[in-house]
Amino acid sequence: MPKPKNAMEIFQVLDKSNCRECMEKTCLAFAGAVYLGRRSIEECPKLDRETIERFSEKSEHENSIEQNRDAYLADLKKQVARIDLSAAAERLGGRFSDGRLTLKVLGKDFSVDAAGNLSADIHVNPWVAIPFLDYVLNGKGITPSGRWVSFRELKEGQERYPLFQKRCEAAMKQVADHYTDLFDDMVHIFGGRQVAEAFESDISVVLHPLPKFPMMICYWKPEDGLASSLNTFFDEKGADNLEIGSIFSLGAGLALMFERLSQRHGFS
Ligand code: SF4
Repeated sequence: MPKPKNAMEIFQVLDKSNCRECMEKTCLAFAGAVYLGRRSIEECPKLDRETIERFSEKSEHENSIEQNRDAYLADLKKQVARIDLSAAAERLGGRFSDGRLTLKVLGKDFSVDAAGNLSADIHVNPWVAIPFLDYVLNGKGITPSGRWVSFRELKEGQERYPLFQKRCEAAMKQVADHYTDLFDDMVHIFGGRQVAEAFESDISVVLHPLPKFPMMICYWKPEDGLASSLNTFFDEKGADNLEIGSIFSLGAGLALMFERLSQRHGFS
């Protein structure tokens, strides 16, 4: 269905019991949060699958992004086939051997050969393959500064934030709310590092989805009737190594990986 015109359209399908299981004070508050993209409709446990699917359909904009994604990925592979991979390895701090450039992605080897073919120690989804190839082609090898900024503070981040919030932060938050081992998995499976709680969060983990592109994920647990929250932060200099479209793609790809992981453990 097309995007709801207002929060009341969402409110109409809710249970209206104000039961607070979604951690919002009222159903109306929940409807408003869904309308603004802060919450996802499936976070109300009282809704049936049909209603959830009706309200979760992708917008035309999202559909066009997905259609263009595959063409863009094919184009990036062609471009990579035309560059000197050994020079790229030097620029990016990677390894070049047997005609392949290898970089660490989430602590695992991720390689591309001279024909643009990808191989990795982890499952490669297209959302992650795109930023990897973009990084190989255009990454400047700039060293991160250690100062964290939000997606909105990145160049052109403000206008892309609503979709990033939905496809990355809201999707990750939903996994984190139900699958409490997620942050341990980030550390043990994805080579992350738990750091001092930043921005007064309850948990902060730094991941390295690309060598000079750290990303911090902060999670606030639900408390005193307030819903949980999850935000991502990027190094202000590291983000010079990747353009905003690729950062969006990376966030969506990581959220998808975390969802799959929680499904494998029977949490969704
Ligand atoms: S979970 Fe939230 S939205 Fe759903 S019925 Fe309860 S208060 Fe309303």
